[in-house]
Amino acid sequence: MSSIRLEALKLANARKPVTINHTAKKSEIFGSNVFNDKAMRQYLTPEAYRAVKDAVDFGKKIDRKLADNIAQGMRDWAMSKGVTHYTHWFQPLTGTTAEKHDAFFETSFDGKDPLEKFNGSQLVQQEPDASSFPNGGIRNTFEARGYTAWDPTSPAFIFGTALCIPTVFVSYTGEALDNKAPLLRALSVVDQAATAVAKYFDKNVKKVTPTLGWEQEFFLIDSALANSRPDITQTGRTLLGHVSAKGQQLEDHYFGSIPSRVMSYMRDLEYECMLLGIPVKTRHNEVAPNQFELAPIFEETNLAVDHNSLLMDLMQKVAERHDFKVLFHEKPFKGVNGSGKHNNWSLATDTGINLLSPGKTPMSNLQFLTFFINTIKAVHQYEDLLRASVASASNDHRLGANEAPPAIVSIFIGHQLTKVLEELENVKKGKLSPQEKTDLKLNVVGKIPDVLLDNTDRNRTSPFAFTGNKFEFRAVGSTANCANPMTTLNSIVARQLIEFKKQVDQLIDTKGLKKDEAIFNVLREYIKETKSILFEGDGYSEEWEKEAEKRGLSNNKNTPSALKAKVSKKSIELFDTLGVMNATEVEARYEIELEEYIKKIQIEGRVLGDIARNHVIPTAIQYQNQLIENVKGLKEIFGKEYEELAKEPIILIRKISGHIAAINENVHLMIDERKSANLTEDIEKKAYAYCNEIRPYFDIIRHHADKLELLVDNEMWTLTKYRELLFTK
Ligand code: ADP
Ligand code: MG
Repeated sequence: MSSIRLEALKLANARKPVTINHTAKKSEIFGSNVFNDKAMRQYLTPEAYRAVKDAVDFGKKIDRKLADNIAQGMRDWAMSKGVTHYTHWFQPLTGTTAEKHDAFFETSFDGKDPLEKFNGSQLVQQEPDASSFPNGGIRNTFEARGYTAWDPTSPAFIFGTALCIPTVFVSYTGEALDNKAPLLRALSVVDQAATAVAKYFDKNVKKVTPTLGWEQEFFLIDSALANSRPDITQTGRTLLGHVSAKGQQLEDHYFGSIPSRVMSYMRDLEYECMLLGIPVKTRHNEVAPNQFELAPIFEETNLAVDHNSLLMDLMQKVAERHDFKVLFHEKPFKGVNGSGKHNNWSLATDTGINLLSPGKTPMSNLQFLTFFINTIKAVHQYEDLLRASVASASNDHRLGANEAPPAIVSIFIGHQLTKVLEELENVKKGKLSPQEKTDLKLNVVGKIPDVLLDNTDRNRTSPFAFTGNKFEFRAVGSTANCANPMTTLNSIVARQLIEFKKQVDQLIDTKGLKKDEAIFNVLREYIKETKSILFEGDGYSEEWEKEAEKRGLSNNKNTPSALKAKVSKKSIELFDTLGVMNATEVEARYEIELEEYIKKIQIEGRVLGDIARNHVIPTAIQYQNQLIENVKGLKEIFGKEYEELAKEPIILIRKISGHIAAINENVHLMIDERKSANLTEDIEKKAYAYCNEIRPYFDIIRHHADKLELLVDNEMWTLTKYRELLFTK
């Protein structure tokens, strides 16, 4: 057997679970590496503590002098835990996280007065030499450099030996160069818009917080096996490999007992999560072999987004100790399920109410219906933008391929709520009589809580589903930074709520309607207008594709076509008027994402060409030569009779030649297409060329390579096989 595959298998098979000795109770260690409330009370003056709290709760600016005090407290706290460096931790548009470490150390130029130092300005601002982060021309246009600025709403934490300070990353002209800055702006506008609407129901509401609970799916593969595959190490997925005889058809992995090596990895990971204050709660096997899921208790959205990014880093780091590699890719293996990252989303008031949870009284249910229907309206209006917010080369393998969920955005609300909406649709226009009001309260609005409790039917094929007390955006990919979909969702809902408030107020002011009458009137029209986005059936079916087309819903199956919605007039106007992003910022992101798409497909094409030519073909030839020797030998021994005896080897020899020729030819053609695409200056055209002209060769080349895998002697095959990658535990 090829030495790399053999060595990898030997290593993987000899592994034992790593012994984990964490005994501390979760509640005791939770957040101990976070500069949280407890640490702040201990290390900050009461004034400085107040300043941070006010910044978090009310967005107040922090005074320079107090910033010095906060920095000092942070430094003392961090140094008490063995920390030597600090870094501004940020989320550039590459989708990962970035950091630049500086020591807590200063000295004068002649080496005198060495000192452990960290002051307010270092806390508040840092300049990472950022010329190599993608910026879609923003910095070129404005000839400005980027700097990072402290985000006090997400607490500093210790990672390794560094104090990490969550920051936004912006240009000197104020354009956001990262994922966090637009997210914070979107969260702030949805807070204002939702608070204004929530005041219809309770005057005491001062703040509305969008909440996010993500569910991270991933594959866990032995590191030696993963590293033996050049496609996995370079692209995060397998570009070829015949599906194994046993895949997920028995569904014996789902919710089965977690394998022991994985279990000790999970325990170790959970321990690290606790230290960092990431409230992970559930862990279980997923549908595909070696696929798992981790989900936290939901949190305020900005913090949840940071925690997800941090978790992804942490998962890879802890995996090293356990000789695993985490595959976050949406489709690392053909023939088994891919991975997603469901984003559970809701809105919570500072009075402790979940606005998407039906209440106990008719009034609180009217509040629920208001936010529920406005969310539907927002998605209805911006379904293509929502689809664009989860577009990426890797997520294309789920959306629009034969994988959950489809590329068409629709909303599932379940049978019971559908009925409620149908009844509300019949509410009379204008003023209501006392009898009509009582009827509404008793028979429609008042009934929601108990019907929802029984409403357990869940449609797994829906990309955007209402699940009892929250919406679940399921189209988000497992590699994604949640900031992008969360910025979009919160922006469109904010916009919708602003519009709603205007309409309701107008009915009250000009038509003399009572508040609840006005609300019923506006909601009734929304129900009528948004029917095309509601869908309860099978999202994978062909009939739905046809039906959706009739309804005018978009169905953008690949990234270049999906992204286009980001730069439509309607989208630019949305982000611009809300102050979430200006046109330049939106266009920059569009360009960056197209470019990233091109690069990803380009790398995959190169790697595939390489593997096909220098792994697959040489191995096939080697085996073919063996067959030829066999035929020659038969001829030598048996003379004319050999024709009968060598029938099978000769057929095999021909088949192998056919596949080799096909691979060679198609790799050539693919390279030619790449060359021609690379000459294209227009980035949109280039992305389409990579999508439509280059990518189709992947399947053709793979088909022939996978056939060869079945023909060639297993002992000779150099690439670690699917059954080995997926079933080694
Ligand atoms: P599923 O069946 O989809 O796995 P779960 O009940 O496990 O559903 O919950 C999934 C996620 O929903 C969890 O991460 C949880 O924290 C999150 N979640 C629950 N309530 C809310 C909420 N109000 N806002 C945001 N996320 C929530
Ligand atoms: Mg879920």
